[in-house]
Amino acid sequence: MIDARELYQELILDHNRSPKNFRVIETSTAKSKGYNPLCGDHYTVYVELDGGRISDVSFQGAGCAISKASASLMTQHVKGKTIPEALSAVEKFQSLVTGQAEASEALGSLNAFESLKNFPMRVKCATLSWHALKAATQGETEVTTE
Ligand code: ZN
Repeated sequence: MIDARELYQELILDHNRSPKNFRVIETSTAKSKGYNPLCGDHYTVYVELDGGRISDVSFQGAGCAISKASASLMTQHVKGKTIPEALSAVEKFQSLVTGQAEASEALGSLNAFESLKNFPMRVKCATLSWHALKAATQGETEVTTE
């Protein structure tokens, strides 16, 4: 049996080593830059919309393992979703890592981030790309965790 902690560490390592959707979308409909001054994480999230649905989403930038892994998983999670669905996922993930909600089936492997509720400093790393995604869908081009 692998416990949740091991699963979490493996997930972070995997996605940090080979992040998914780690590229620029030249034809993106919207993009937003996210910056977390506490850690130095900075990413740009690119969103391509097609009829109200996120047909493609990607990110570029640099930061710690948690921020990169979270961004990678975020792109996988919201690809194909409508904007309201994606925004609901942002809220769910935010509630999970801040300890305001329990793990939910809807978040799938993202539930591995639940332990972050005990590390408030790292919550900003994990949620950075999610804030940037939200900003992009709302026409904001920059977001900071401060
Ligand atoms: Zn960080």
